[in-house]
Amino acid sequence: MNYEEQKRKLLEEREQLITSLNELGYALAQKKDWVVRIENDEEEHMDSLDDAEMTEELERDIATLNVIEQRYQEVENALTRIESGTYGICKICGKKIEKERLNANPSATTCEKHMSKRPPD
Ligand SMILES: [Zn+2]
Repeated sequence: MNYEEQKRKLLEEREQLITSLNELGYALAQKKDWVVRIENDEEEHMDSLDDAEMTEELERDIATLNVIEQRYQEVENALTRIESGTYGICKICGKKIEKERLNANPSATTCEKHMSKRPPD
């Protein structure tokens, strides 16, 4: 099966995710991990906040970063599977994932029957 359309979507989404990640944090070695960045002007700003507010803001950034990073990993893994020829196979039953499902979510790792097995984010 030809997955050029899925690959195009995945590459597009990866670009967007990298942009978001770079806005929130900075890339560690080989863009495999991101950490929240506190910029100099933000640090000054944070001096005027009490500790609770600062922690809350930082925790929110870290949470957002983690969600985007997780998504980025999914996209990255899907692209790797396309390259290795294992893309579009349900990781639970080993059957082909429905084309419609891949169109809706190109980084899907399970078929429609098994998609509920994934814990909610
Ligand atoms: Zn399945």
